[in-house]
Amino acid sequence: MAECIFCRIIAGEIPAEITYQDEVLVAFRDIHPLAPVHLLIVPRRHVESLAETGEEDQAWLGRVQVVAAALARREGIAGSGFRLVVNCGPDAGQEVPHLHYHLIGGRTLGGMV
Ligand code: 5GP
Ligand code: ZN
Repeated sequence: MAECIFCRIIAGEIPAEITYQDEVLVAFRDIHPLAPVHLLIVPRRHVESLAETGEEDQAWLGRVQVVAAALARREGIAGSGFRLVVNCGPDAGQEVPHLHYHLIGGRTLGGMV
């Protein structure tokens, strides 16, 4: 999607600190980090939100958690703890309409909402 900010990061048109990529997923540092570690894990394919996914997406959706755990270990927060968050739609405050998972850690995190 030409005007999607995350598609443009994936395409290399907008700079970002990319920390991981494979055939289906890309991870990069959030531009406004909420904690010492704040990565965004996104599918290369433009998928608007988790609400758009179905059975056919099971494999790469599962891969998100495998990659999140590996990145948490690499960032040194697997032991101290971290949170993997997906905001879906207006009530959750999703700002960027390209499915993304926040991997947040490196400090004590507050309540869920
Ligand atoms: P949401 O509220 O949609 O779940 O989260 C969107 C996240 O994307 C926010 O944490 C915001 O800081 C991050 N973000 C928005 N634009 C950019 C950008 O251009 N580059 C990077 N690296 N992060 C961005
Ligand atoms: Zn996109």
